[in-house]
Amino acid sequence: MPKPKIAVLPGDGIGPEVTRAAVAVLQRVRPDVECVEAIVGGAAIAKKLPPLPEASRLACDRSDAILFGSVGLPRYDGKPLQERPEYALFLLRRDYELFANIRPVRVFAGLEDASSLKAELVRGLDLVVVRELTGGIYFSEPKERRIVNGIESAVDTMIYRAPEVERIARVAFDLARARRKRLTSVDKQNILETSRLWRRIVNRVATEYPDVELEHVLVDNAAMQLVRRPSSFDVIVTENMFGDILSDEAAILTGSIGTLPSASFGTRATPGGRFGLYEPISGSAPDIAGKGIANPTAAILSVAMLLRYSLGDETNAARIERAVERAYAHGARTAEIATNGSVALSTVAFTDVVTAQLEI
Ligand code: NAD
Repeated sequence: MPKPKIAVLPGDGIGPEVTRAAVAVLQRVRPDVECVEAIVGGAAIAKKLPPLPEASRLACDRSDAILFGSVGLPRYDGKPLQERPEYALFLLRRDYELFANIRPVRVFAGLEDASSLKAELVRGLDLVVVRELTGGIYFSEPKERRIVNGIESAVDTMIYRAPEVERIARVAFDLARARRKRLTSVDKQNILETSRLWRRIVNRVATEYPDVELEHVLVDNAAMQLVRRPSSFDVIVTENMFGDILSDEAAILTGSIGTLPSASFGTRATPGGRFGLYEPISGSAPDIAGKGIANPTAAILSVAMLLRYSLGDETNAARIERAVERAYAHGARTAEIATNGSVALSTVAFTDVVTAQLEI
């Protein structure tokens, strides 16, 4: 089998700091994986290159997966989309048709008090949000401003096609099957025609997964249940806009955005699974960039997801996840979650604790 190859795109702000930590962990467990680093985002623009330079795209084309840091810097905020660092991510998602966004949300033992909910509600929390990423109201046409009878108006369109719903439903059912076998499909079928199609297709796919328990929940109710009984969820699947909102709501349950990884899949197969882009859910955190204090957990856990889904290496994926769990159980904390009485570790020191736990 050819040597696995990944493209590493560190990007801006804390991106390079946390990506370095994640690559160190990866190289420890899989020294055979070839990591090709490429420039992206504001780091590229600063060199008078486009946000996603051709050479970086080529590195991604030739890889089994992309490990992405983060992009975005305040100095580009007012620029048109094509000149902003975030455009790189837009291009990658569009061109590789990364239709499935997977966000695991876990509360590590010892971190319950960092949550904005009561500790007993989030203890042991372990759910996954599967969001459709390339369809729905964010991408459907027409999308424009109009003057109608002299009145300024705007229109967005929401379209879903049966195959789009079917493929995301399969991703979610497969995930649920490998976990606690419970799937919650979120829609707004009492109002939206797209949701009625969504529910019909999800029910049809469900017949192929009799071992997975399926429930349908309306999006407004799902938003409430996520803060009322978060631990009752296993896998949640939903369309693009609902997923955007619910996945952020789920993320804050953990107390630190720096602990949450994500994966986005397309249809391209790799020898070990499928091509994907793996990244922390947070941004470039310019307020702490360069200080060496960013929490690298999300990037390290992104590597675990990369191993599991793109390289088919469950053993090392689980090994990294257990090492992170143990690091927290032993009291390792970075600055944003350090409490009175715990030492705030630097990015490098925290990574060293995780690395040491790999060998146990
Ligand atoms: P952010 O996620 O970068 O930061 C929000 C807060 O969380 C900050 O206080 C930050 O210090 C903290 N934080 C984030 N990650 C952390 C970590 N690993 N360890 C410790 N603390 C952490 O969100 P923002 O400030 O709204 O955005 C900053 C820039 O990032 C913007 O330019 C935005 O467009 C961009 N952005 C990029 C992505 C991406 O690359 N996928 C995602 C979101 C935002």
